[in-house]
Amino acid sequence: MLDCLFCKIIQRSISAKLVFEDNDAVAFEDINPQAPTHVLVVPKKHVSSLAETTDADVVLLGRLQRTAAALAAKLGLSSGFRVVANNGRGAGQTVEHLHYHLLGGREMKWPPG
Ligand code: AMP
Ligand code: ZN
Repeated sequence: MLDCLFCKIIQRSISAKLVFEDNDAVAFEDINPQAPTHVLVVPKKHVSSLAETTDADVVLLGRLQRTAAALAAKLGLSSGFRVVANNGRGAGQTVEHLHYHLLGGREMKWPPG
């Protein structure tokens, strides 16, 4: 996808601190971390948001969530972590390529802001 920031990171034309990669996804550190651990889990396939996924993406979505859980374990987030997908401008989505935020390393409040 031309002009998509996360596609460019996946293609390595923009650099990021990668913490994970497999056939389906990459994970890299958020450039503006909101917690001591803040990683983005991003499918290699360009889909603009969760709302744009279809039933054909069910396995991919499951893999992304499993990747987030595995990374949480690997990164030592044993006391808890949060996985968030902001969907749409009104929910704070700023990059229109589906991603899950993996946040941990501090107390999380509820409800989120
Ligand atoms: P969202 O606002 O939910 O769409 O999340 C987009 C996230 O991407 C934000 O938390 C940004 O801090 C993060 N971000 C933006 N540009 C970069 C970048 N070049 N490398 C890593 N993370 C980025
Ligand atoms: Zn993209």
